[in-house]
Amino acid sequence: MPAGVSTTIAPHVVVAGAGPVGCVAAAVLAKNNVRVTLLEAAPSLPVELRASTFHPATLELLRPYGIVDKMVSRGLIARHFAYRDRRSGVVARFDLGELGDITNYPFRLQCEQFKLCQILLEQFASNPLIDVRFSSAIGAVEPRSEGAAAVLTSGETIEADAVIGADGASSAVRKSLGCRFDGMTYADRYLVVSTPYELSDHLADLSYVNYVSDPDEWMVLLRTVDLWRALFPVFDGETDEQALSDESAERRFQGVVAKPTAYEVAHRTIYRVHQRVADQFRVGRVVLVGDAAHINNPLGGMGMNGGVHDAVLLAGGLAGLLHGTVSDERFSEYAELRRRLALDFVQKHTHANAVTLTASDPAVRKEALEQMTERAATAGTAHDYMLQASMIKAVWAMETELRDIGAYPFD
Ligand SMILES: Cc1cc2nc3c(=O)[nH]c(=O)nc-3n(C[C@H](O)[C@H](O)[C@H](O)COP(=O)(O)OP(=O)(O)OC[C@H]3O[C@@H](n4cnc5c(N)ncnc54)[C@H](O)[C@@H]3O)c2cc1C
Repeated sequence: MPAGVSTTIAPHVVVAGAGPVGCVAAAVLAKNNVRVTLLEAAPSLPVELRASTFHPATLELLRPYGIVDKMVSRGLIARHFAYRDRRSGVVARFDLGELGDITNYPFRLQCEQFKLCQILLEQFASNPLIDVRFSSAIGAVEPRSEGAAAVLTSGETIEADAVIGADGASSAVRKSLGCRFDGMTYADRYLVVSTPYELSDHLADLSYVNYVSDPDEWMVLLRTVDLWRALFPVFDGETDEQALSDESAERRFQGVVAKPTAYEVAHRTIYRVHQRVADQFRVGRVVLVGDAAHINNPLGGMGMNGGVHDAVLLAGGLAGLLHGTVSDERFSEYAELRRRLALDFVQKHTHANAVTLTASDPAVRKEALEQMTERAATAGTAHDYMLQASMIKAVWAMETELRDIGAYPFD
């Protein structure tokens, strides 16, 4: 047990959901001498292929937990990200290496989200402050005057000093609180397919992260350690079944790089895209973080990253509240700040990315791409754009609050 830590006097928080955000929230609480019961509905850690990009600012926030080197060793360093026109090639290329004077991590780390969870769960196994329970779904929360109760679907009730809802987009915690989840659902569905075929041998100047514009079929091409992941729009009138078929994957990949043999497809999934933010991130001693609190389109890779930022500020702030070092009013301000950043920063940036990429009107598309070219070509604007895209500005926007709880990473 870490020096000075006593499990008998530590306050107790239930965290619902062992996704990346719930795992980080548990790590933050335990580091601040709070006991955690981490409830996960699934029987074991879900290992679906979802988020695979960690931005520099997120790695900075995770630095105190001693896990970034492990993540880097299991991931891929992407120093550049690029915007491309599907027909003419690279339109704009950004070099995150230029942020080396600001961050220890001047790159995007391509590393699947489940690897973060695996690394943290390994740590939790030897931490007496954290009790991880699989096959334990939360069904509802009951706010108390000085705490909150987690009611499991099994009927068991766990009384705690607080509950954090990190239980994903369909959050039972959020629903139980009766919070609104306003926003919109995009008309498009997205298809993600991945292949071990080395696309970069055939496409000139391919970066590890590429946003590819096209009036007929835009796409995102991302490299992970083992695979190229491609994200495509699903066409109007194309059923989910058709989009997920072998023929669809083959046709789409042959359109990226034509080759005489069939593509090996490692994985495929289809999903609907929303932009939604809960009307409150805090109700008494119940806190919402990650997808439970906000969801956005994946263009820009900010969903999970924003969730980790929630976890660092709100789990750290909650620990302060429970130890009496952060006032109730101040903690509400933290929650409102996270909500405002989800609305003004993440949703705005990812929606702008969607417009750049998906515009079918040739004039709109041309203007968006020209703007990107100009941005990348001008030192000042390129630097400014990278500070935004790397989410460093989003962390700067929390400087005062993160300093309050001793978690500001840029000094
Ligand atoms: C295809 C795809 C690609 C994406 N790419 C990116 C990307 O590159 N970058 C990025 O930042 N984001 C990306 N995202 C978004 C990202 O995956 C989510 O923002 C991220 O998973 C949110 O983490 P979370 O921990 O809040 O929720 P989740 O990852 O959904 O985890 C929630 C956990 O809670 C558990 N759970 C659910 N209900 C209950 C319950 N009642 N009780 C207990 N446990 C429960 C679930 O089993 C799960 O383990 C992508 C999403 C998709 C679908």
